Amino acid sequence: MPRELSPSELESFPSLDWSEIAPRLTPALRSSLEKVLETQNGADLSLEESYTLANSEGDDLLGLLAAANILRAELAGNIVTYIVNRNINFTNICFVGCKFCAFSRGPRESDTYFLTLDQMAQKAVEAWQLGATEVCIQGGLPRDLPKFHYRDILRAVKNAVPRMHIHAFSPMEIVYGVELTGMPLADYLSMLRDNGLGTLPGTAAEILDDEIRHILSANKLSTAQWVEVIRTAHRCGIRTTSTLMYGHAETSAHWVRQMRLLREIQSETGGFTEFVPLGFVHQNTLLFQQGLARTGPTLAEHLKVHALARVLLAGSINNIQVSWVKLNRRLSQLCLHAGANDYGGTLMEENISREAGATAGQYTSPEDFQSLILEMGRIPAERNTTYSRINIKLPLNEAECTAEQSLEAEFA
Ligand code: SF4
Repeated sequence: MPRELSPSELESFPSLDWSEIAPRLTPALRSSLEKVLETQNGADLSLEESYTLANSEGDDLLGLLAAANILRAELAGNIVTYIVNRNINFTNICFVGCKFCAFSRGPRESDTYFLTLDQMAQKAVEAWQLGATEVCIQGGLPRDLPKFHYRDILRAVKNAVPRMHIHAFSPMEIVYGVELTGMPLADYLSMLRDNGLGTLPGTAAEILDDEIRHILSANKLSTAQWVEVIRTAHRCGIRTTSTLMYGHAETSAHWVRQMRLLREIQSETGGFTEFVPLGFVHQNTLLFQQGLARTGPTLAEHLKVHALARVLLAGSINNIQVSWVKLNRRLSQLCLHAGANDYGGTLMEENISREAGATAGQYTSPEDFQSLILEMGRIPAERNTTYSRINIKLPLNEAECTAEQSLEAEFA
């Protein structure tokens, strides 16, 4: 039986050296990890080997975390990126009824809201003035939404701030837009692209397994529909993120199968910009209250999912993002040591995780990101949505960064 790791042992894994942990690993697991460290490609792992990594405990788990950190350094360098952006959740009215969601409201509840196009444009203007390069727009799905409302949101924001990147509409919203307009999916996505849609969030994935999806949300789009929206978006030149929600009713086998499916899509389209593991925030959700989910992820699960993503997605999706709103400050930093290389967005206002009970806050300023990253001995850099532009942000006072940080920044 693998020995159980204490929280302090888990938290101190960043100081572990591969040469120290490797001799303590189960031989088969060690050889799987060494293979990926050698080839830097998660495609070299069989399904069985991937399951073994996903089930690792004790020293084997420490080995997975250490290997993920090495792979991160090789594939993504010492830079931790973030983006200055604003979340605009334009309505909380929704008929879908996902049991893990504490954000949505029925149309007759007292605290519903629906932002007008002008209000959204105004929020985008404010965000631009504060240095944001992206707005992330998603919302609930109200019945009787005007047929072309998603297109009209894009027009309103682009008219107000033509250079703002619009990262908007989950695959669930896209399916709803197709239903409202009766347009073929590819035509609908192309119309959104031509009206200013830059990229699509790969949310609404949760766990891409229809049995689990049925527990989480019986009315949500199916796995096949999610994959179809994503593949079609990529073919239309719209890149997307990819996500996985963990810590509820799923098993580690679901993590593995989802990561392998994402690899498969990426090898066909190359359209994913990053992978974002989303820890389930259980407190205020029906899913938890009805006894259908565990109490969110453990510390070991948070670290394992980020590390597993780095290893299984190596050579395919090389940006792994931490969702800081769902983690606390220390946990975000630990996940960045366990394979992740991106801090996500400043957000300016974040409603969805907060309603579910997350306490990490609604806004992290660029300066806060910079000091959190420097504190870890890494290099902060602001990026654009697609990671094609990176701007290193080091403190003016050189005494605040180590010699290694200033040297690497010059060559980054
Ligand atoms: S997750 Fe989205 S689709 Fe599901 S209930 Fe919440 S707002 Fe509606």
